[in-house]
Amino acid sequence: MNFDLHCHSTVSDGTLSPADVVARAAANGVTDLALTDHDAIDGLVEARDAARAAGIRLIDGVEISVTWSWQTVHIVGLAIDPCSDVLAQGLQAVRSSRHHRATAIADRLAQIDIHGTLEGAYRYAENAALISRTHFARHLVAAGHARDISDAFERYLSAGRPGYVPHQWAELTDAVAWIRASGGVAVLAHPGRYKVSADRMDALFAEFKAAGGGAAEVVTSSQSLDQLGRFGTLCTRHGLLASRGSDFHEPGEGQFDLGKVPSLPHALTPVWSALPARP
Ligand code: AMP
Ligand code: MN
Ligand code: MN
Ligand code: MN
Repeated sequence: MNFDLHCHSTVSDGTLSPADVVARAAANGVTDLALTDHDAIDGLVEARDAARAAGIRLIDGVEISVTWSWQTVHIVGLAIDPCSDVLAQGLQAVRSSRHHRATAIADRLAQIDIHGTLEGAYRYAENAALISRTHFARHLVAAGHARDISDAFERYLSAGRPGYVPHQWAELTDAVAWIRASGGVAVLAHPGRYKVSADRMDALFAEFKAAGGGAAEVVTSSQSLDQLGRFGTLCTRHGLLASRGSDFHEPGEGQFDLGKVPSLPHALTPVWSALPARP
């Protein structure tokens, strides 16, 4: 079995269509794939058809943007019901502020004499409702302002950089509640990315668990393998299951391709033990 429980398509900030993500995952040996686009579930129908054709299982997923203690934190929902009204309304509310933030990012970049980035970013956003910093990054690279995506973030788009705009996403407790209302399992995404002290990380795990969270990502592209023990220990201490996902966005970008993530440590209980059995 090869579970990849975190990835993106053109419905958010990935470059492959949902069907192409599924086909690539299947070719890479993934047996069970969760498509987890940011704040949107519009890719799941296409992904499900592609998964059937490829003979792999699609797990309905989403990745919700949350603000916790002035930090952006991402919460993945697995085995959600795409027809849930509660979830749909919550995601709609999160998405609704993206355009306004995008105009503010473009205004800030214009102040350092980088013009035309709003139009530039939207050209990369197949789903305009999901305009994201990644689309700005792709435009900044194409326009010669950065070497690659991560350089664009480091120079312009990360917290504290000239194109960064602080933003209020969903509440942690709300995001977990929407996922649970839709029958899903809430997973704390890539904890290694959050710039918080060890005490605050422990508090994040505790609050997430108290809110009804079920698991945390232990093996993922955006945290190094030497953090594996640290987050495995936090899962065990807080009674959370462990998840594994590539956080794939684009061929050739990121640490791991679809399905190419290292295995979970054997001592941890995988989140798939809590997912519905294969049909
Ligand atoms: P947004 O939701 O619009 O703030 O965009 C967040 C997305 O930006 C993440 O999901 C990543 O795909 C991408 N991202 C954030 N930081 C970086 C980084 N340092 N390097 C590459 N991609 C990043
Ligand atoms: Mn992303
Ligand atoms: Mn994320
Ligand atoms: Mn992601």
